[in-house]
Amino acid sequence: MINIHGVRGSIPNSSQHTLRYGGNTPCVEIKTSKFQLIFDCGSGFSKVNLFNNLQTIIFISHFHHDHIQGLAFNNFENLTNKKIIITSAHSHKTDTFNKLSSYYNAPYFPIKFMELNKNFEFLEFEDVISKFRDLEIKSINLNHPGNCSGYSIVEDNKKFCYLLDNEYEECQKIELIKFCNNSDTIIWDGMFLDDELLSKKGWGHSSVEQGIDFFNQIKVKNFLISHHSPSRTDNQIDEIQKRFSLTNIKFASENEVIDF
Ligand SMILES: [Zn+2]
Ligand SMILES: [Zn+2]
Repeated sequence: MINIHGVRGSIPNSSQHTLRYGGNTPCVEIKTSKFQLIFDCGSGFSKVNLFNNLQTIIFISHFHHDHIQGLAFNNFENLTNKKIIITSAHSHKTDTFNKLSSYYNAPYFPIKFMELNKNFEFLEFEDVISKFRDLEIKSINLNHPGNCSGYSIVEDNKKFCYLLDNEYEECQKIELIKFCNNSDTIIWDGMFLDDELLSKKGWGHSSVEQGIDFFNQIKVKNFLISHHSPSRTDNQIDEIQKRFSLTNIKFASENEVIDF
């Protein structure tokens, strides 16, 4: 089961105009019989129900604040001796710890959260791959300022791809098609429209139109556009859906649950 907890890029937007698609920054959860896999810890992470009886693994795509700002906001007090693995293909484990530790520390945060939390266990990405072979975990380098890692997971013959944040370029096409093909679900960064991209070159995000073009070249069941521009209202998203007559492509919405 895939639970979408956050779909908004850059900054949360809580308003009456974002109620339907949601205002939290990125967090996607996959639950299987043994695992709880979490992709990014934007503000949506605060809504994840952490289970004592499942192995939780958090995959961080990169360290821009909209992908880590929710990490400290969950009910860790309720967890008895639970170990939560944190990993990232973007950085080695000490680097991952150090980045999160300086973010959750003075002058940006009231306590030394990463040092005080006893649930977290930092692992190298390669060690997570070999420790949990039945998950078939892979990563891909995405085009983003400071780099970013996309992920794919295959579990029980179901394939999921997470591709936030990425500024799509034609030169990525072959590798990205290979990485994503035959997926059941793909999460695509469609923060902008093509005309908005003109003034946002180098910001590290793709367009809805690039997503449509990519969708037409691959085999996938659920293609979800996410990382919505923070100012995009529910009505504007509906209008884009209509304008491009999108039937097999959806705009991700918060609290959405998809079969996996
Ligand atoms: Zn982002
Ligand atoms: Zn980013």
